[in-house]
Amino acid sequence: MEDKIQKIAEWIVGSRALVVFVGAGLSTESGIPDFRSPGGLWDKYDPEDFLFQNFLSSEAARQKYWQMATEMYESMKDAAPNAGHFAIAEIERLHKLDCLITQNIDGLHFKAGNSEKRVLELHGTAMHVTCLSCMKRYERGDIQERIAKGDKAPRCDTCGGLLKPATISFGQSMPEQETMEAYRRSQACDLFIVIGSSLVVQPASLMPVAAKERGARLAIINRDETACDYLADMIVNASAGPTMASVVEKVKMLLGSGQSSL
Ligand code: NAD
Repeated sequence: MEDKIQKIAEWIVGSRALVVFVGAGLSTESGIPDFRSPGGLWDKYDPEDFLFQNFLSSEAARQKYWQMATEMYESMKDAAPNAGHFAIAEIERLHKLDCLITQNIDGLHFKAGNSEKRVLELHGTAMHVTCLSCMKRYERGDIQERIAKGDKAPRCDTCGGLLKPATISFGQSMPEQETMEAYRRSQACDLFIVIGSSLVVQPASLMPVAAKERGARLAIINRDETACDYLADMIVNASAGPTMASVVEKVKMLLGSGQSSL
């Protein structure tokens, strides 16, 4: 394990362009459940119920969606970044991060100190709500107040359109600009590190493949196996927070910075 952490740190220090790609597993240590681990959200809800097409076509589906979305938001709104988030922010501060591609919708990268220009939120953000008709944007907290008062599937107060958290649901189009940029960065990087993702959700899971095809090194830090383990140059099956904290300590030692803000 120590050897693997040392090697990843050396790869980071020697890299020309590092892409870090994260999933829900990065945030479980902040108390936010992932989807697929035991006790995760798919143990409680049926993913079929959350297809975008169902949201559009049925009031019952919209109410169910908002029920799950409210539960997720409750776990996210006051969550604090953990050692894994801080480690990634530190890698940016050390000028070693080309880009952070996140599937997470919890906003914790920004709380940890990553800058907006380095982060691509592939699946949107739960911190805002959008009207699907006129695209009016709302603060999430304001809409949750309405829900707490009994509005089970809120509508836009300007045009009456359907309101939905500004996240990407199954069956909903990916944000074009972010997705294209994420592909471009994945293909151009020389080191691609996955942290806390099962890599089963597409098209996000195609990014490590794109990186590998163009000759990048691929390291995966995940508690369980992933769909891309067969491609990886290094696999660390361990918790994201402590592992990334150790990686960054070694990076700082190698860079000789001697800074310790983690
Ligand atoms: P996933 O649930 O499919 O996989 C999470 C992976 O993380 C699992 O393989 C698990 O073994 C691993 N893991 C869990 N805790 C870990 C830890 N502490 N350290 C290391 N590994 C850990 O998640 P995914 O691949 O991100 O895909 C699911 C989708 O869920 C994404 O699209 C994302 O938008 C959404 N989601 C986001 C959040 C969030 O924003 N925090 C939470 C739940 C789901």
